[in-house]
Amino acid sequence: MVLSADAKNYYLDVPAQFWSEDSLLPLAEYLRLPLKDTHDKLPFLWTIDEQRVLHRILPNIMLTEICRERLDAWSFVQDFGGSNNYHAKVAAEQERTEAAVETEKKIAELEVKHQAELEQVRQQTAAEAMERLSAVLMDLDPLSVLPSGKAVKAAKPEELTPMKSAEQNLAQLVEDTEEDEEVADEEISEEAWLETFRCTTCNECTEMSPAVFDYNEDKQAFIKDINAGTFKELVLAAEECPAKCIHPGQPLNPDEAGLEDLIKRAAVFN
Ligand code: SF4
Repeated sequence: MVLSADAKNYYLDVPAQFWSEDSLLPLAEYLRLPLKDTHDKLPFLWTIDEQRVLHRILPNIMLTEICRERLDAWSFVQDFGGSNNYHAKVAAEQERTEAAVETEKKIAELEVKHQAELEQVRQQTAAEAMERLSAVLMDLDPLSVLPSGKAVKAAKPEELTPMKSAEQNLAQLVEDTEEDEEVADEEISEEAWLETFRCTTCNECTEMSPAVFDYNEDKQAFIKDINAGTFKELVLAAEECPAKCIHPGQPLNPDEAGLEDLIKRAAVFN
C-alpha cells in the first residue's frame, strides 16, 4: 500500500534504517504503557505495499490519542458489564483464596482422623494377636484361638523351645497341626463316607443303591450299609451326586472286577 497524499497528513512511513526495537512499539503495546513511560517511545502500525514489502508507519499524535480514547471507552464498557471488572476480580481472587484455605483445612483434618483410625486399628490388632498368642501358650480353648477356626493341638511345655520367640512357637504349633490334619485326611479317605449335611436330597444315590444309601430323619442321605453294595456302586453314586458329597474311599473287596479303573475314578472324589 502506498500512502496517499491525504494519508501522509496522518501517517509517517519510517525508513527501514530507522527501525529501532527500543523506541518503536506496536500501537497496541504503546497504548498499554503508562503515559509517563511513553516519552521516548513512538507507536507504529504494520503495512504492506503493492510489492509486498512491509512498512512501519507512525500515526500522528491526534490518531494515537483517538485510539487511546477508544481503548479507555472499551475498558469502561467491559468494566460496566462485569468483564474485567476490578471489584469482580478482587472478589473472585478472595473466593479462590478462601476455598484453598478451606480445602487445606479439610485435608489436614482428614489426615489427623486417618492417622487416629490407623493407630486404633494397629493397637487393636496388636492386642488381639497378643491375646491369641497367650491363649495358645496357656492351652486355652484351642478351637477359638485361630482366625481360620482350625484346631490347634495342645502344646507340651517341652515342645516350646525357650530360645524361640512366642511367634515362632505359635507358627510351629500351626504347622504341626496342619501336618496332623493332612495325615488324618489321608486316613479318612480309605473308607467310604458321605457328607450328609451337604446332601440336597436328589434321590440319585438312594434309588441307585437303596441297600447302601438311605435318608435320615432330616431327609438327607447317609451310608446305611457299606457292605451291602459294590465299590462300583459307590463310585457311580459319587459321580452322579450333584452335591459331590459322596467319597467312595478304597475298595473293601480286592477281588472286585475292574478295580484299577474304579480306583482312578474314585480318587477324584476322595
Ligand atoms: S446323590 Fe448326593 S445329593 Fe443326591 S441324595 Fe445322594 S448324597 Fe444326597
